[in-house]
Amino acid sequence: MKITSIRAFRVELPLVEGSYNWSGGKSVSVFDSTVVAVDTDAGITGWGEVCPLGPFYLPAYADGVRAGIRELGPHLIGWNPLDIGVLNERMDSALLGHPYVKSGIDMACWDLLGKATGQPVCRLLGGRFGDNVTLYRAISQEDPATMARKVAGYRAEGYRRFQLKVGGDPDIDIERIHAVADMLKPGDRLVADANTGWIQHEAIRVAAAVKDVDVYIEQPCRTYEECLNVRQHTNRPFVLDENIDSLAALMRAHQDRAMDVVNLKISKLGGLTKIRQLRDLCVSLGIGMTLEDSWGGDIVTAAIAHLAHSTPELNRFTSTDFNSYVTVSIADGAPQRDNGTMRASEAPGLGVEPRLDMLGEPVVVVA
Ligand code: MG
Repeated sequence: MKITSIRAFRVELPLVEGSYNWSGGKSVSVFDSTVVAVDTDAGITGWGEVCPLGPFYLPAYADGVRAGIRELGPHLIGWNPLDIGVLNERMDSALLGHPYVKSGIDMACWDLLGKATGQPVCRLLGGRFGDNVTLYRAISQEDPATMARKVAGYRAEGYRRFQLKVGGDPDIDIERIHAVADMLKPGDRLVADANTGWIQHEAIRVAAAVKDVDVYIEQPCRTYEECLNVRQHTNRPFVLDENIDSLAALMRAHQDRAMDVVNLKISKLGGLTKIRQLRDLCVSLGIGMTLEDSWGGDIVTAAIAHLAHSTPELNRFTSTDFNSYVTVSIADGAPQRDNGTMRASEAPGLGVEPRLDMLGEPVVVVA
């Protein structure tokens, strides 16, 4: 099998709630996502998707995905998409860094490998653990009472895990955490994700003020060193996200006992091939994982479901059903949330069929 062309489509994903707000006043109302098609001489096409969380969350931006595919694509034409390791090495030697650019292409190659072998991607990644995947709901940053009310609403829809977007004014963040924690029930889990928004002294204040609350603290500060200092001053379970952007970063953090849980995102690490390395290492080391992506629609949600479903349940902390946050569906067959859980498709590949009418004409074609 040979790659004959790579196409990229731009799709807009408006949010059901109108906007999504997190630390430092950052906000997005319509996500700009790129759907990637890898076409082959066997007449089958693999599909992937990359959707940065705006241009100010990770070193990634929406137009960068398309520009990167324009740069990288010509190096991949004529290569076998099923030799995924070979293809990843080729991508890494043709374009240094830019993992998010490679993520959609890698995802599409896993879809092709599944279609070519008649297997769902979750089986190719290790097999299916358990009946379903437990989801968390991200709670956009608002005043404490509104966030508590939203948690109650999503709880009624079946979610039992909540990730509060904090990282704002530390005094209001303390109120946010207490307001939500007061209405949770046994078995619920709460994460306060500052998304790098506090500096060290603020983070230590907040962590001290919630020391008796059953809450996880996620990525309080921008630098790894600040986070490590906060970690050493708190008794709360600790999650690292933005700083864990490579296998080397994960190994260093493990060596430093810098976290209990890591948040692994497919595009942050460069695709399913790369995230699988970190996932498998975390399983061996006993580290919990939030398995997800920066954002996305139906195709990203399907890829998350396959990755999470093929991970031992003990190591799975949470995952995300991004397709339920947005108003449009870009593919049929994607996982649909059921009582706070989702399942990976049994169909070959990712198990999604893009809705071509939603994609329109490709904005990049490399052939
Ligand atoms: Mg996070």
